[in-house]
Amino acid sequence: RRPTFTAVDPATGTPGRIYDGVTPDEALGIARAARAAFDGWRRTGFPDRARLLRRAGEVLRERREELCALMTAEMGKTLTEGRAEIDKCAGACDHYAEHAQAMLAAQPVEMGGPKASVVFRPLGTVLAVMPWNFPFWQVFRFAAPALMAGNTGVLKHASNVPGCALAIEAVFRDAGFPPDIFRTVLIGSSGVQALIEDPAIAAVSLTGSVEAGRKVATQAGAVLKKCVLELGGSDAYLVLDDADPEAAAEVAAAARMVNGGQSCIAGKRFIVLGSVREAFEQALARKMAGYAMGDPRDEATKLGPMQSLEARDGIHDQVRRSLEAGARLLCGGQVPDRPGAWYPATVLTGVRPGMAAYDEEVFGPVAAIIEAADEAEAIRLANDSPFGLGSGVLTGDVSRGERIAADELEAGVSFVNQNVRSDVRLPFGGVKHSGYGRELSAFGIREFVNIKSVVVQ
Ligand code: NDP
Repeated sequence: RRPTFTAVDPATGTPGRIYDGVTPDEALGIARAARAAFDGWRRTGFPDRARLLRRAGEVLRERREELCALMTAEMGKTLTEGRAEIDKCAGACDHYAEHAQAMLAAQPVEMGGPKASVVFRPLGTVLAVMPWNFPFWQVFRFAAPALMAGNTGVLKHASNVPGCALAIEAVFRDAGFPPDIFRTVLIGSSGVQALIEDPAIAAVSLTGSVEAGRKVATQAGAVLKKCVLELGGSDAYLVLDDADPEAAAEVAAAARMVNGGQSCIAGKRFIVLGSVREAFEQALARKMAGYAMGDPRDEATKLGPMQSLEARDGIHDQVRRSLEAGARLLCGGQVPDRPGAWYPATVLTGVRPGMAAYDEEVFGPVAAIIEAADEAEAIRLANDSPFGLGSGVLTGDVSRGERIAADELEAGVSFVNQNVRSDVRLPFGGVKHSGYGRELSAFGIREFVNIKSVVVQ
C-alpha cells in the first residue's frame, strides 16, 4: 500500500497538501536505480561534477523564496532564517565544487622503494535519513560532499517535510544532474531497515534523535555498513566570573533561539558562576523576551511556531516538570491561547540535576540557568550530560576561554564568546550520545570514501 504524507502548517495546525509516498518495493527500486547510476557517476571528473553542483547552488538561489515558503508551511521556519538556510546550502555547493578535488587528491607516501599513494574512492549509494529542523541544510551538507566524492544519494526525509524532500530532488534534477544521482523516497521510518539491508545501499548518514540513531546504527551494524550519526545535543555555555553579563546574555540568547530553539547545536544549559548570576539572569530574561512570537512569514519575526503541536506540548511538559521540581520561571512558560504550535521564549533558573531542563534535551525556546560555585564545578556540570555536540565559554579572558574550550569540554565543537554555528570549513559532529563521524570540511567528505592504499613495485 502506498503511504501518504500530509504537510501540517504549524502556525495554524491546519492540514495542507497531501503527498503520495512510495511502496517498499518502489523505494527499493529507486535505491537500485541510484546504485546503477553510481557506475557512470563515479567515472565522471571533478570538473563535471563541480559544474553541476555549482548549478545546483544557482537553482537554490533562484528558488529561494519558494523554498522558504515551503519550509514555513511545513515546519514553521521564519522567513529570515529560511533565506539564510537556502543561501548557506548554495554556499556549501560552491565550497565543495571548488575544493573537493584538492580534498580528495591522491597523497603520495614515501616508502623508500615502491611507489605508494593513498587515494580516495567513492563508496556507492549513501542513504541519508534526515530531520525536519533544517530541511535543506541538513540534506545539502550531506549531499554536496557525498556527490562531489562520486557517490550517489537516496534521501529519506522526515515525514512532516514531504514538499521539501521532493523540492530537494528537483533542485538536483533541474541543475542537470544525470538521472538517479540523487533521489528522494517518501517513506516512513519503518521502511528504512529494508533499504539499509539492500545491497544497493553502501552506507548511511543520519541526523536526528538518539533513539533513531541507535536503531539505524544497529541495523547498519548488522549488515556491516558504515554510518555517520549526528544526533542531539544539550549544549552547555559557561558564563565565567569575568564575563560581561550583558554581552554573555546576548550570545546566550542567540545560541538558544536559533531556529526557535529547535537545533541540535542550540545553547541549552547556561552554567553561570555565582558572582555574575543575578546580572546574567536579568540580562538573559530581557533578551529572550525580545524574541516575540509572530507570523513566520513576516520578515521582522524572530520566533515563529514550533514544528508541531506534539513538540510544543512536549516542551511545555519539560518546563512544567522542571518548575515542579523547584526551578524558577523568569519569563515565558505559558502556552498562548490560540491555534498552532506556539511557545514563548522562556527562561528557567535554579536548574539542577534531576530536573527535566537539566537531564533532558530541550528542543525548543527554553533556556536553563544552572549555578556553579567555581570554574571547576562549571566544567564538571557542563560535561555531566550524555551529549557532547557543541559547547561555549563566555569570558573576559580569551586565553582562559580557549584553554577550557580546547582541553576541558567534552564536545565536538567549542566556541569562545560566540554562539556555536556550523561552518562548511570546519568539521562538525559530536562525541558521546551526540553521535560519531564528522560532516563538513575535508573531514566530512572523507567519511563516505574508500581510503585506499595503492603500492606499485
Ligand atoms: P527523529 O530522530 O525521530 O527523526 C529524524 C529522522 O529519522 C526522520 O527522517 C525520521 O523519520 C527518522 N527516523 C525516526 N525513527 C527512525 C527509525 N526507527 N528508523 C529509521 N529512521 C527513523 O526526530 P524527531 O523529529 O522525532 O525529533 C525528536 C528529537 O530528535 C528532538 O527532540 C531532538 O532531540 C532530536 N533531533 C535532533 C536533530 C538534530 O539536528 N540533531 C534534528 C531533529 C531532531 P520520520 O519523520 O518518518 O519518523
